[in-house]
Amino acid sequence: MSRNRRYDVLFEPMAIGPVTAKNRFYQVPHCNGGGYRDPSAVAEMRGIKAQGGWGVIFTEQCEMHHSSEIAPFIELRLWEDQDIPMIAKMADRMKEHGALAGIQLAYSGINGPNLYTKEVPLAPTAMPIRTFTNDPVQARALDKQDIKDLRRWFVNAAKRSRIAGFDLICLYGAHGFGIFQHFLSTATNQRSDEYGGSLENRARFVREVVEDIRNEVGDTMGLTLRLSLDEMMGDLGFANSEVRDFIEMHADLPDLWDLAHGAWEDCSGPSRFKEEAAQFDLVTGIKALTTKPVVGVGRFTSPDVMVKQITSGTLDFIGCARPSIADPFLPKKVEEGRIEDIRECIGCNICITGDMTMSISRCTQNPTFMEEWRKGWHPEQMNTKGASSSVLIVGSGPAGLEAALACAKRGYDVALAEAGETLGGRVARERLLPGLSAWGRVADYRTYQLSQLANVQTYPGSELDAAQILDFGFENICIATGADWRADGVSRQHVVPMPMDAAMPVFTPDDIMAGRLPTGHVTLYDDDHYYMGGVLAELLVQKGCTVTLVTPCAYVSDWTNNTLEQATIHRRLAEMGVDIQLNRGVLSVNAGSVITNCTYTEQTRQQPCDAIVIVASRQPRDTLYTTLKAREADWADAGITSVKLIGDANAPGPIAWATYAGHRYARELDGADIGDALPFRREIAALATT
Ligand code: ADP
Ligand code: SF4
Repeated sequence: MSRNRRYDVLFEPMAIGPVTAKNRFYQVPHCNGGGYRDPSAVAEMRGIKAQGGWGVIFTEQCEMHHSSEIAPFIELRLWEDQDIPMIAKMADRMKEHGALAGIQLAYSGINGPNLYTKEVPLAPTAMPIRTFTNDPVQARALDKQDIKDLRRWFVNAAKRSRIAGFDLICLYGAHGFGIFQHFLSTATNQRSDEYGGSLENRARFVREVVEDIRNEVGDTMGLTLRLSLDEMMGDLGFANSEVRDFIEMHADLPDLWDLAHGAWEDCSGPSRFKEEAAQFDLVTGIKALTTKPVVGVGRFTSPDVMVKQITSGTLDFIGCARPSIADPFLPKKVEEGRIEDIRECIGCNICITGDMTMSISRCTQNPTFMEEWRKGWHPEQMNTKGASSSVLIVGSGPAGLEAALACAKRGYDVALAEAGETLGGRVARERLLPGLSAWGRVADYRTYQLSQLANVQTYPGSELDAAQILDFGFENICIATGADWRADGVSRQHVVPMPMDAAMPVFTPDDIMAGRLPTGHVTLYDDDHYYMGGVLAELLVQKGCTVTLVTPCAYVSDWTNNTLEQATIHRRLAEMGVDIQLNRGVLSVNAGSVITNCTYTEQTRQQPCDAIVIVASRQPRDTLYTTLKAREADWADAGITSVKLIGDANAPGPIAWATYAGHRYARELDGADIGDALPFRREIAALATT
């Protein structure tokens, strides 16, 4: 197949300074939780995107000098020549299929606490470091000599980037993270010398650095400037109108304008709160202010929306971070006329949690993300089939669906049995909750792909028991039967069931998703701390309840700090009139009230209510598995060689954990026993010889 003509515009080459991108698919810099700790894993991840057809591929932010770093967050480092081989490996992989390789040079200024290097942070104006973690550190103001040094450090980094083989340098001035924004914004630049005050003065530093770098490497490398379309701080910040003034005044400054948005949480808005192409209004009209190309982002997954960005004269390049993670082969699929094969990002921001938790990223939709090198997993190719032939997968949630698809792609004969009438498991229910409709893509993508394969049979409306499974004669049995929300309060505050009066109506998330709703004044007790408690509070208000949300945490939906949603969730609930009670638990449930307790003291309070919604932990549905295990002696006669428990039925977790478990099951089926060996590759730092 070949592409539809209406997508031709996406494949037109375009120059960025002295270099030319082969198409308009532009992977903007994005974190991955691997950075300098896992350089080969990151290099391979970027290399897979090159295979997938991206025209431009960038690194994550690369700390370009040791005097500004953001430990414990794990990004790249280019502090000295020793760092060059690591980033050169990435550049090589990026360029393998004709993409331009870009490096994002970051100097974190007021955003870098320097916890690792112990250097005093430098910023345009002396003030407290502005981080997610409120580090008790202040920066010193750069003096004139510091500014000269900083300009030289940028040139040094640019020279090292060229040696490493990069084609493009992105100067980071967005998301509140990069020094260029700190100079441009009156919120962080309160200088009275020629680098502060008027916009022209505040822009002096970026002009100087661009000129310095261009003089050194501009003959062979393109220079891009990444700015936020609006700092989202009102007039004091670098607001959209001033961004436009700046671009108009410096129309030809960089070789390309890379327009991000606000703080990171504004730019990477989850689908719960932001639609595709959400920045359209903020970016519209900017292209007319410059002759240089413009790239913008907006969680673009639809090629038609992409085309509109270009034909409407809004953007020249389609910037993608998350869509390129969910489907590294997005451009190839458009090119080959395989639009329905695109694995669309669901906007859950689980990928971002890898960076925020300094671990390594996962993707709900693409379980191979960051496993390309560690495990040798390719997003489009499965390993060859093993010795056995047939697999029965029980349960069609994210784990079962992914296991079925990946096993079928390996060439097994797959049967997928589902008790309910709809495929999708938890996703089929959760997609109906406020703001979560895009999450349905987890099921839609896989259901469609399965429907295209001849070696898969799906059986909805089939609740299986052990006896049936033993009768069927499948060689491999994969149990992906999911989990139920507990009604007894067991989670973190309560490790055993809490005291409850049977007269109080008690609801779990499963009840509510099944349409059994409380009425009147509801206490919602959230000891889960991810999205479910906040989402249900929103739903219950919509349904006419008065809601008091009680959580032992200091934040509503605490773990969503890692998905960059927490502040928006709190704002949404507060605006809806939810009574938010933080740092409080629920001690017991009585008829007509619950007793809440302060997390820190012995103080308790009676909270009158008509019902309680308990968002605690989940109980794996593993009876089928344990029953089959108990009949292991019958397996051989039944032709069964393996029975495995995966996903929420094994250990409940976020959806991304389930798709990963499903994929892993398929990859490892019929695999050699690796014994006590590590199931993935890793890199360890070379030991110094002295
Ligand atoms: P996961 O996140 O691990 O994929 P889910 O809870 O989303 O788990 O999905 C589990 C699915 O398994 C549900 O759709 C449920 O209806 C189905 N299921 C549970 N028990 C059985 C069974 N005995 N036979 C067939 N399907 C089952
Ligand atoms: Fe998109 Fe979620 Fe994957 Fe991130 S983790 S790329 S938001 S699907």
